[in-house]
Amino acid sequence: MQYLSTRGGISPIPFSQAVMMGLASDGGLLLPRNIPRIGAETFSSWSELSYAELAFEIMSRFIDDIPSSNLRDLINRSYASFSSEEVTPLVHHGELHILELFHGPTLAFKDVALQFLGNLFEYLLERDDGYLNIVGATSGDTGSAAIYGVRGKKRIKIFILHPRNRISPVQERQMTTVTDDNVYNIAIEGTFDDGQAVVKALFNDLEFKKTHHLGAINSINWARILAQVVYYVYSCLHVIRHENDKAMDFSIPTGNFGDIFAGYIAKNLLPEGTVRKLVLASNANDILSRFVNMGDYSAAQVQQTSSPSMDIQAASNFERYLYYLLDKDPERTTEAMLEFAEKGRLDLSGYCDQIKRDFSATSVSEEDVEETIRKFHTDYGYLLDPHTAVGVYAGLRHKQNNIPMICLATAHPAKFAETVRKAAGIDPEQPEAIQGLFGKQTRCEIMDADRDSVQEYIRTNALLQTDAE
Ligand SMILES: *Cc1c(COP(=O)(O)O)cnc(C)c1O
Repeated sequence: MQYLSTRGGISPIPFSQAVMMGLASDGGLLLPRNIPRIGAETFSSWSELSYAELAFEIMSRFIDDIPSSNLRDLINRSYASFSSEEVTPLVHHGELHILELFHGPTLAFKDVALQFLGNLFEYLLERDDGYLNIVGATSGDTGSAAIYGVRGKKRIKIFILHPRNRISPVQERQMTTVTDDNVYNIAIEGTFDDGQAVVKALFNDLEFKKTHHLGAINSINWARILAQVVYYVYSCLHVIRHENDKAMDFSIPTGNFGDIFAGYIAKNLLPEGTVRKLVLASNANDILSRFVNMGDYSAAQVQQTSSPSMDIQAASNFERYLYYLLDKDPERTTEAMLEFAEKGRLDLSGYCDQIKRDFSATSVSEEDVEETIRKFHTDYGYLLDPHTAVGVYAGLRHKQNNIPMICLATAHPAKFAETVRKAAGIDPEQPEAIQGLFGKQTRCEIMDADRDSVQEYIRTNALLQTDAE
């Protein structure tokens, strides 16, 4: 399988190169040349596969430059770190299926992709004799999942900036208790945006970026999307096996359009009609639900909500779907993205019919999130985290008779205990991964949100070619 850029400015590249490139060098996003359609017979033959076996079947259709035995090994190791044998188990409450994606080491769905990406990076760097210094800013969830993805890995160091005292104590501990030699936590005096600005400045210093082999770990890496396709297929097979339904809907709490884009790939990969509708659930930051409902893609001020990982106004994966919407035309995609960069809005109202063939959407208020958590607990004794509650509210709203609805549960409720306690009146049970955090040793550098000092710190500690050997 070859990969192309949504902006058409690079010649086709194989999977490995697409992974190491991250963002396409022409500023676009990388996509497979085509999405293969799985036949009905092949699909039903997957019915009894384990999660890792299924992951291999799916991923190997998009990866042809890693030998099968190595790919199998990478997948097996990535999902052995999950506390559930099924990796992403499906539970049933009332009318809904809840797909639990939070059994990885940091208790959020980002582990599904980042456990795999960490192993993949290590393998490719070893194979190609390279090294990588990952630099990123986090507002909480991504940083810890990224750190757990690469801790202890050879040929990789990771530097994660978080805003000091502005993330939850659990999130902070999840990062700073990782004391492996290759992990550098930096608490900056400032906000998330200050951290993000420092990281951007470092990446814009092209000389520094090149000599230090800087790499990013954000949601635009194709390998992350690919890893997420697997649990859509896994849950479809589960529902078909247990209920004999052939078509189903999904509800997805959405921020960067990454997770839901993986659903779009799954929809196009599986036999036609298996995945029917993708329900896009956003919190009060409703740019994406406005896009689906009215074709209005225009950024507003970011609002803080109880689902912080979805407090986003410019979805970094949106361009991938836009490319399909515009008939895979790189010129029109480029034009549209430049227009959005300039004006902060795009009018896509002419495409509403097409968009609505794939998606429905709802923006969920803070009161409805709280009420959903409370009611779900009262009715079923099951606690939802606030992100999952956004998806559950939208899932119920769009539930059709006789069509199963699978809601993606993206974080464990204990990660957002305060909101859950406020809504349901009880404390979520703490999984082992959280219980141990507060007695552990921590390591973290406190610094000003100042580009020069952060750059100097990275320069001093970064991995060099000689270390890698
Ligand atoms: C990142 C995140 C999301 C949003 O996922 P996107 O791929 O950005 O749409 C939802 N819930 C949780 C808990 C997350 O960490």
